[in-house]
Amino acid sequence: MNFSFDASLAENYKSNSQKIRVMSETWVSKNIFCPVCGNPHISNLDNNMPVADLQCDNCGEIYELKSKQGKIGNKINDGAYATML
Ligand SMILES: [Zn+2]
Repeated sequence: MNFSFDASLAENYKSNSQKIRVMSETWVSKNIFCPVCGNPHISNLDNNMPVADLQCDNCGEIYELKSKQGKIGNKINDGAYATML
């Protein structure tokens, strides 16, 4: 697993949120396997999908990436699992 983003991907983007989006989506598609079925390849979806960023080629499960500017801290949104359900 490669733990670094490919910064050359961001050269054509001006906004930081677009830069981190293209770098993080590319990293996930190359380094993360599907948590549902174990398929080692997850594909990038078109950017015009409202809540879908990546999809498993095998089982079709859809994933959305989240990113945050600034300090991440030690809080997890919806961390109260029972409440979230
Ligand atoms: Zn899958």
